Amino acid sequence: MLHVDCKVAIIGGGVLGMSIAYFLSAHAKSPESVALLEQENNIAQHSSSRNTGKVHAPFLYDPTKKKTFAKAAALGYELWQKYSSHKRMPFRRDGVLEVALNDEGIDRLYKYMEWGIANGLTKNELQLLDKNEVAKIEPNVRCVSAIYCSKDASVNYGAFTIGLLEDIQSFGSKLLLGHKVERISSYGQGVYSITTNQGKEIKAEYLVNVAGGNSMDIAQMMGVAQGYTDMHFRGEYWQAPPEYHNLTKLSIYSVPKHPEYPFLDPHWIVRADDRREVGPNAIPVFGPYAYGWRRNLIDMLPKIMESSHTGARKIFFDRQFLSLVSTELKSSLSKTMMINRVREFLPQLKPSAFTQRGTAGIRSSVIDKTGRFVPDTLILERDSSLHVLNYNSPGATGALPMAANITSKIIRADVLQTSDKARSLWDATEIADRMKA
Ligand SMILES: Cc1cc2nc3c(=O)[nH]c(=O)nc-3n(C[C@H](O)[C@H](O)[C@H](O)COP(=O)(O)OP(=O)(O)OC[C@H]3O[C@@H](n4cnc5c(N)ncnc54)[C@H](O)[C@@H]3O)c2cc1C
Repeated sequence: MLHVDCKVAIIGGGVLGMSIAYFLSAHAKSPESVALLEQENNIAQHSSSRNTGKVHAPFLYDPTKKKTFAKAAALGYELWQKYSSHKRMPFRRDGVLEVALNDEGIDRLYKYMEWGIANGLTKNELQLLDKNEVAKIEPNVRCVSAIYCSKDASVNYGAFTIGLLEDIQSFGSKLLLGHKVERISSYGQGVYSITTNQGKEIKAEYLVNVAGGNSMDIAQMMGVAQGYTDMHFRGEYWQAPPEYHNLTKLSIYSVPKHPEYPFLDPHWIVRADDRREVGPNAIPVFGPYAYGWRRNLIDMLPKIMESSHTGARKIFFDRQFLSLVSTELKSSLSKTMMINRVREFLPQLKPSAFTQRGTAGIRSSVIDKTGRFVPDTLILERDSSLHVLNYNSPGATGALPMAANITSKIIRADVLQTSDKARSLWDATEIADRMKA
């Protein structure tokens, strides 16, 4: 068996794992003491390249229930803006309109205004508009009221993650691509032995589990996160034809019909490269990589068996959830149903004009013992290991601040010897302190 020794091993080469590797290798005296393992032959093959590409302004996040997401997203804008200008990558501050389609939606907009201000947005950045004011900025949009937020941007997170890869390689950390972590055992005294499908053994003093849709399995393999389970939801997109590109300047989101569940209704999306798309919906699937029916079928039986003894079984008796699932399934089976959901506020769209699907991505949401969706991300620490679960939207927006926070914890735990001056664009501890503030 081949051996690699390191101080910190990171499992998962998505935007979060790569951001953590970026900060750790930039602060380490010996960057080769940091290793990142990724099961695919390339980084960012899953949700980090399969998302809506928004740098989300934090007005949708209740500061009491989604504290970590809200804080990370609030800082994410500034950090990605600086990173993209450093790397000369697109960062398009194009703004977003959150529309209400009825009176109940207006009540929700007032809540969003409160949350946005509590999460650090200014009154200039967040404005409540009546329908006449909306008509002046977006004449093709139909609604009764809306929030216009100017501090929202469109980017390509897959490209950002490749940018981080270049930095990490230049700092000198180890990257093991095509290495799926299959077994983790502890030698005691905090030394982990990690075995991959390639027969490699990595010994590490500290382990960071940021394996996205697989992070729950890895945590539970190590005896962490018992009592939790996860459910996977595929988000599908349709690409809009060029004749719709001038329909709006802004991305348009609508107040979700079921705000207590962890996903929004499909939106009208302006992409960083100027394309327009509709999506995503949220179809329950059996595994984190069930992009197609074959993979979904393979994952079906094990997931059903698992659900029979976890909180997930309770959710199947929740009528509202079942009604939501039925709408989502219909919008997967029928393109017309999907486009009609966005036509409620952009009536000019014709389903027949949409001929190409976009790239689907899968969100893995955590459910607790009582059968409730966990609202915030979960960061669980145990015996020199740290596990990030439920890392869904706005996870990409908040990846750099989250990574700085995790790096600062590892530095404080004295796992790594640090150099006098960090090679990253920011000092991790400074960003972590701002997250706590
Ligand atoms: C449809 C959709 C739309 C979204 N829209 C937005 C948005 O507009 N804005 C926003 O901020 N966020 C958005 N998100 C959320 C955001 O994309 C995620 O929060 C973020 O990408 C998560 O990054 P990650 O690194 O944790 O996970 P991932 O990108 O999934 O990376 C995890 C990595 O771990 C690897 N891995 C798994 N198991 C193993 C193993 N055993 N061994 C080795 N490697 C392993 C995987 O191959 C993968 O590369 C969206 C997500 C989806 C799915």
